[in-house]
Amino acid sequence: MLFTLASCKQVKTSDTFAAMNTYITVQVYARTARQGEEACAAAKAELAALETLLSTTIAESDTYKLNHAGGAPTAVHQCVYDVLDFSLQMHERTGGLFNPALYPLIRAWGFTTGDYRVPSEAERTELLSHSDCTQVRINAADSAALPYTVQLLPDMQLDFGGIAKGYAGDCALARLSALGITSALVNLGGNVQTLGAKPDGSPWTVGITNPWGGEAVCAVKIAGKAVVTSGGYERFFEDDDGTRYIHIFDARTGLPADSGLESVTVIAERGMYADALSTSLFVMGKDAAVSFWKAAQDFDCILITSEGELLYSAGIANALSVQFPFASVTEIR
Ligand code: ADP
Ligand code: MG
Repeated sequence: MLFTLASCKQVKTSDTFAAMNTYITVQVYARTARQGEEACAAAKAELAALETLLSTTIAESDTYKLNHAGGAPTAVHQCVYDVLDFSLQMHERTGGLFNPALYPLIRAWGFTTGDYRVPSEAERTELLSHSDCTQVRINAADSAALPYTVQLLPDMQLDFGGIAKGYAGDCALARLSALGITSALVNLGGNVQTLGAKPDGSPWTVGITNPWGGEAVCAVKIAGKAVVTSGGYERFFEDDDGTRYIHIFDARTGLPADSGLESVTVIAERGMYADALSTSLFVMGKDAAVSFWKAAQDFDCILITSEGELLYSAGIANALSVQFPFASVTEIR
């Protein structure tokens, strides 16, 4: 069977475009160039449609409408419902560290507006008082005409920045699969999500970015999985003293996460899970992240600390190759 697959000639088609505040590459292996082009176009359309639903800044998006509904119940597309539902589950599982309702806080710091500043403690406390997402009401079947509705608190606003790309990658790959594609890779600004293995049956090799800059520090071989990284190096601003403020926030303090981790990579079947987890483990820090992995065991991870240590979970021991001279390389099991 594998021989048949390997000898079957596959044509590679790829397309790179800007969407979801980043660059996205879709790479598809198909029987013909035409099938590959059609599949790439379908994946691109899927991603564009999701951006229009999930973006906080596009005024036509369901998320924007929800954020500006003043606390009234609002009809949303099933995709928005699904992402929110999963976000709330992750909120619970991470003891509140993953929080999709931090948008007013994140915006006050200047992320998404570009107007960077450091809000006072009083301002942060006030903004955090609207982020209790246990108060969000979601309804899967209001009526046949309004199947999905969401109700926020009046001053609450959602931001799916920590999960949307992972979800979008899952949807793009599902679309490709429905079109008969069995081998594809989607790179969403460094998050790599794969459908199956490479056409010859071998795994994909995904490099992990050096958080201090430069070449990839390690690489992991995977098939049919998502490899999602969160790091402070991706988006930040610096004040006049050179203090760095990153875009991932600790919902307990309203301050940028400062947990001693430079980056967290999560490898899992679902991109949405990997994305939400990479953000959450980054906020947790090394010890809590290791404990979380030990309790869950349904994903793999690579943690890079500010001390130059690398920790990886046992499940990827044979798939990982390390290039960078880390102070230590430790397997967690
Ligand atoms: P990136 O988007 O750079 O790949 P992440 O997946 O870690 O990285 O997402 C970071 C984004 O998640 C932020 O830009 C913000 O929109 C949102 N975010 C920040 N802090 C949190 C948090 N504690 N919980 C959920 N989402 C967050
Ligand atoms: Mg994330």
